[in-house]
Amino acid sequence: MDKIYDVVILGGGPAGLSAALYAGRARLSTLLIERAQDGGQIAITDSIENYPGQIVEGESGKSLVARMAEQVAKFGAERTSDAIVSVDLAGDVKKLVGNRGGEYYARTVIIATGAHPKPIGCENEGKYIGKGISFCATCDANFFEDLEVYVVGGGDSAVEEAMYLTKFARKVTLIHRRDTLRAAKSIQEKAFQNEKMSFLWNTVVVKVDGDELLSSMTVRNTVTGEETLIEADEDDGIFGLFGFIGYSPNSKLFEGVLDMESGYIRTDADMHTNVPGVFAAGDIRIKSLRQVVTAAADGAIAATQAEKYLNH
Ligand code: NAP
Repeated sequence: MDKIYDVVILGGGPAGLSAALYAGRARLSTLLIERAQDGGQIAITDSIENYPGQIVEGESGKSLVARMAEQVAKFGAERTSDAIVSVDLAGDVKKLVGNRGGEYYARTVIIATGAHPKPIGCENEGKYIGKGISFCATCDANFFEDLEVYVVGGGDSAVEEAMYLTKFARKVTLIHRRDTLRAAKSIQEKAFQNEKMSFLWNTVVVKVDGDELLSSMTVRNTVTGEETLIEADEDDGIFGLFGFIGYSPNSKLFEGVLDMESGYIRTDADMHTNVPGVFAAGDIRIKSLRQVVTAAADGAIAATQAEKYLNH
């Protein structure tokens, strides 16, 4: 049988990296498995302003995560890149299988697989992803330099990302399905003061269209039901549409295995799931606040509890 790790951590976002740091410092044999790049959602965040004691003013998520990963490396956690496709978490030794057939064994597992952006949910959406539609302002804002951009959503993400987009776009219009924003008041205030921002209230996007690139969309007023066609400015020929309407948990793998609610994993305050030796940390959990600081805290608790479990 292959090596049996003390801890296998799934996910290289703040929760997973924090768990790896604590597990490494506790001298547990630790493997962190990430399917793509470190950081999860935070890696695509332009500026982190609410992480306590942040040293670098306006630091990007990518840079914060890179420093976290450096710190993890110092304490000896192993790393591998793989997408886990099946798990057997029932026994004392847990088994995880990757999409290229790699098998991993561990006495404890910490699930920190996070969440991914929800689609806007309009007709033709799939056709225009990467061709006008995006879910990452940091990644794609520069494609819309001096063009018009629309942002769907009314939460913290939508409003913050819309403001970030004003640094590039000529005009940014926030499309929200209600007439009041969900975003924190402090974030709203900045948005209302931003001259490049405008707002389409009580509105949803029903259809997007164009030739190769996105150039028109139909929106519907949620109060009157009236539909309106929005077309790209003639000189521009295209516009951008960014979706920030929340996230779906990356938890399909654990359906029927772990206790969940709407796809989020249920844990106690110490990150224990209903399966002994299996912990969950970060955005994948049922919790009231999904932030870098709460993800990092979850990871630390999960690793400490994994150590406790191993010592019993
Ligand atoms: P969110 O708070 O769940 O907001 C989602 C927004 O999208 C809401 O305004 C919602 O409208 C709208 N929406 C949902 N489904 C929709 C649909 N099908 N069509 C149209 N609109 C739809 O999500 P989030 O903004 O991504 O934030 C997620 C979590 O991260 C939150 O806890 C947030 O506080 C946190 N966060 C914090 C910061 C920060 O502190 N700086 C930054 C980013 C995110 P309704 O309002 O009508 O429900």
